[in-house]
This record gives sequence, C-alpha cells and structure tokens, in this order.
Amino acid sequence: MTPLPSAPEQGVPTVALVATTAEVLAHPELDERLLAPWERRRLAGIRVPGRRDDVVAARLLLRLCASRVTGLPPDAVEPAQRCPGCGRDGHGRPYLPDHPELGVSYSHADGLAAAAVGPGPVGIDVEPLTRRPGPLAVLRRMLPEDEVDAACAGPDPGPALLRLWVRREALFKAGFEAGSGAGPDAGRDDARLTAWTDHRRAAVVALAGADAVLAPLLSSGPAPPSGR
Ligand SMILES: [Zn+2]
Repeated sequence: MTPLPSAPEQGVPTVALVATTAEVLAHPELDERLLAPWERRRLAGIRVPGRRDDVVAARLLLRLCASRVTGLPPDAVEPAQRCPGCGRDGHGRPYLPDHPELGVSYSHADGLAAAAVGPGPVGIDVEPLTRRPGPLAVLRRMLPEDEVDAACAGPDPGPALLRLWVRREALFKAGFEAGSGAGPDAGRDDARLTAWTDHRRAAVVALAGADAVLAPLLSSGPAPPSGR
C-alpha cells in the first residue's frame, strides 16, 4: 500500500491510495466491520466473492484516505453516497457529510482498489494493466476521437486506449466533462489530471482533481505527461 500525498498547496493535501484488494484486506488499520450497515446490505447482493472483496477494499481505502486527510481514525469516517441521477442515497457519488469541503472518489477493478480524498472535486479510476477497453465503436463515442485515432495509430493501441479510458473515468467521477483528454490539464482548465502505471500491482491509474497537486504523488516513478 503506497500513500500518494500531494503537496499541501491548499493547506489540506489530497491523498490518493492505490492497492491490491489483498493489501487492503490485510491492512492493520482496516477491517470490513468498519463498513456501515447500509454498505454491508449492499454487499449482500454481490454474488461473486472476488468482486465483493474488491468493493469492500475500495470502501475501506476511501476511509483510510479520509483518515489521512482529516486526522480522524478510519472508524470515525462516515462516507455517504447520493445518486445524481435519481437523487436517492446509498448509491452514486460518494461524499463525506461531515466534510462537505472535501472531494471523495473510489474505484475498484479485478483485485485492485483505489481511493482519493482532497479539497474540491476529485476522481480516481484504476484498471488492470491487461484490461482492453472496447469495442472501438463505443470508445469513439465516449472519448475524444482524435485521441482514439492517435492511440490506434501507435505501436501498442491496447494500453494507450486503456489509459485514455481511465483518464475519462477519473474526470467523469470528479464531475468534469470528458472534453479533450489531451495534456495534463484536460477537460477543464482547473481540472488537473494525471495517469500512471503502477507496475508492481499491474494497474493503470488516473487521478483528476481541481486542487490536487499531482507531481510528487507517484509511487512508481514520475507520471509521464502523456502516452504510456
Ligand atoms: Zn440512482
């Protein structure tokens, strides 16, 4: 488990964490019993054990991030979720009712979890390095077409398209329009966005946040400005 603290430019740092599900479940500060009753009720509906573990890990990691930012112990962090679509609680965008000034995001994929908490909107997405998003016709509708074309023209389209995908997901979760995915400040002038590869965990990660200072946060070396 590698902490990815950003520079404390705003006084409150943005903390992002990326880990394997196994790392989270073995973490001494974390335990499934930290989850709220409403979260555990939702877990009961997940039939695939591995997927259930991934969801648990991501929700626990969110608590750890919030703990690092607020100074509260993880069991004092009480996240909630509200759906921007239907307005109901218990699913949709996560937030911290006691800390409305903080943005909250989490992500899970096969055996991987990621979370980020910081001032203002944040969005994080993690995918296995081996995942290949597709099909192309769908990607062309959801991603900037020129970037899809550029990725396809490169020597290794699969990883390039995956990186575009996680960047779009991170921006979307932070509440920004997908817009142009090009450059480190894609989508909106105040939306900082970076993507990197965590080679040890075979993961591709993207983090978006208006106030996040992302340069020093990378556990697996500096973030490439674009491409792989
Ligand atoms: Zn809904």
